[in-house]
Amino acid sequence: MSQATNAFYTGLQQNLEKLRNDGLYKPERVIASRQGSEVQSEDGRTLINMCANNYLGLSGQEWVAQASIEATEKYGYGLSSVRFICGTQTVHKQLEKAISEFLGTEDTILYAAAFDANGGVFEPLFDENDAIISDALNHASIIDGIRLCKAARFRYAHNDMADLEKQLQAAADKRHKVVVTDGVFSMDGTIAQLDKIVELAEKYGALVMIDECHASGFMGKTGRGTHEHHNVLGKIDIITGTLGKALGGAMGGFTSGRKEVIDTLRQKSRPYLFSNTLAPAIAGASLEVLRRLSASTELRDRLHENTAYFRKEIERIGFTIKPGTHPVVPVMLFEAPVAQKFAARMYELGVLLSGFFYPVVPMGQARVRVQLSAAHTREQLEKVLAAFEQAGKELGIIKN
Ligand SMILES: *Cc1c(COP(=O)(O)O)cnc(C)c1O
Repeated sequence: MSQATNAFYTGLQQNLEKLRNDGLYKPERVIASRQGSEVQSEDGRTLINMCANNYLGLSGQEWVAQASIEATEKYGYGLSSVRFICGTQTVHKQLEKAISEFLGTEDTILYAAAFDANGGVFEPLFDENDAIISDALNHASIIDGIRLCKAARFRYAHNDMADLEKQLQAAADKRHKVVVTDGVFSMDGTIAQLDKIVELAEKYGALVMIDECHASGFMGKTGRGTHEHHNVLGKIDIITGTLGKALGGAMGGFTSGRKEVIDTLRQKSRPYLFSNTLAPAIAGASLEVLRRLSASTELRDRLHENTAYFRKEIERIGFTIKPGTHPVVPVMLFEAPVAQKFAARMYELGVLLSGFFYPVVPMGQARVRVQLSAAHTREQLEKVLAAFEQAGKELGIIKN
């Protein structure tokens, strides 16, 4: 090994060591079972899972797995092609149509991930004459997508409508303007004020784009998303989302909107043009998921019941949570070492959850984030609450 390449590897080793020393190294937990409200760890322990984006409990569901097997039987394992060469099957067109109907849009384009949908949405649609006005806490994939585009960038303070208006005014001389926000912000469960955003966008002649990764399938009365929740169905120009969270949990993403937008993306969006077709297993299972969610709101209703129950009980025990209604429930522990110790103790007590601390969340805002699922039984939630109470008392977070 030359001295130069040697320095490269020792540099990486030092950076990794620094991450470990700073407590920022992210270990991976290995699950030996299907994903679900209960999982088996590698060492054979059973844990109640409170940290998956498995909002509707579909990830490990038998009928979803069966739908993917049926699609594989019919369409095979994969396409060995991008969409426009020989990678489009009927199941992909059916899924795009089903997503459009579900969201109330004209057309939809599939991607290998929502990360790609966001990465490939701006550059084909906007250029240096245009402005992108983005919430300061938008997802990393939106930030990266904006970086790949030549449009002028304006950032508004998180969820701050007065600042959004200021930025819209600052962008006034730009040709096209688009306001971009996560529909739901996953750290706090904050729901974007889409009604107000749409109103401001109309006032200043801007388009609106939302990322519905933590909303599609369960927000709003029939689970269509944040636009349904805020009564602005049909008023959002571009919707991106994932098939990897509530809508089945495998992987895959999409962008949905007007026909000419989606057509343009099919012609020009680089993660679509230069990356392989979504596997038929995922397309077929996602299609079955959308069929069932359109037929019944049972899972969505159960999720919201579980959320309301957990939010009420965790406060009754004496914990502080960020107020709200979303199944993301941040239980505030404030100090990073407390959050770390708490998550570790909960693991010993059979509950899987994740701690977040600076720099992921602001200093002094350390927390564990609970994510409810339709798959959680009342009995499981009672066990989790009992563990919270025990660990909370042991660590002096709540009073005896
Ligand atoms: C998870 C997430 C993504 C990425 O979704 P993938 O399909 O896993 O790539 C994008 N945006 C937001 C807001 C997310 O939460």
